[in-house]
Amino acid sequence: MPGFSSPAIILRRTAYAEYDTILDLLTLERGRITAMAKNARKSKKRFAGILEPFCCLDAVFTDPSARSGMTILKEAAMTAPFGAIRLNMEKVAYASYWSEMVNRWVKEDDTQSALFHLLHYVLFMLDSGKASHADLSILFQVRFMTLAGLFPGMAACRVCKTEIDRLSGSPTLYLDIARGGIVCHRCGGEGAGSQYRKPLSRGLVKQFLWVRETDLPQAERMRFTAAAREQGLAALEAFVTYHLAMEIKSLKVLQRIRHW
Ligand SMILES: [Zn+2]
Repeated sequence: MPGFSSPAIILRRTAYAEYDTILDLLTLERGRITAMAKNARKSKKRFAGILEPFCCLDAVFTDPSARSGMTILKEAAMTAPFGAIRLNMEKVAYASYWSEMVNRWVKEDDTQSALFHLLHYVLFMLDSGKASHADLSILFQVRFMTLAGLFPGMAACRVCKTEIDRLSGSPTLYLDIARGGIVCHRCGGEGAGSQYRKPLSRGLVKQFLWVRETDLPQAERMRFTAAAREQGLAALEAFVTYHLAMEIKSLKVLQRIRHW
């Protein structure tokens, strides 16, 4: 039977019928796919312990069947369990949010290799315990939005067109969610703090741009102050929700349980 093999990250797992499991996966070769693991919950041996959320696999799939349209997971070997993520509620919440963003945005058969490597990288770092969860989420969202072509314009005010570098002092800028970019302190005062307008310091805007353009391992070393972290996540999470035009369920959980 023809098919294909690919590294794959498990984005979501759903029980199906009596013994089967349905998986949403981000694959390196074919973007997002939905595949069925037959008898995964019946046989202890078949996929023992490897079909957990956020696991990275080397997997072999059938092509979608002509009759049901369903892709079948034939074989899988775990390449990275990322097991420490599943032992910590806040880590699970961040990983679930990133996975849901990917699952909702990437289309089937739309190869997104840079996004695959980005998701793998932040899961690896989250699992390692060597990075702040919030800083990883800033890194992921900034680079995800860039890959998705949705990154907000940050070089100049969207309204008066003044370049951010030419503003004097240390002005508070605003991320105007609906306009998809930065507005300056003169143009952005009205409606500040609303759901669609989030304050950002100029220093934080510069940090976003650096995180966006630098090599991944270097970008990951960027550290944010507690205030910048809170401001940055509030702006990015509002922006992601608005521009992906969807309610992201796992974000609500994350916002309820995370520690600052
Ligand atoms: Zn302006």
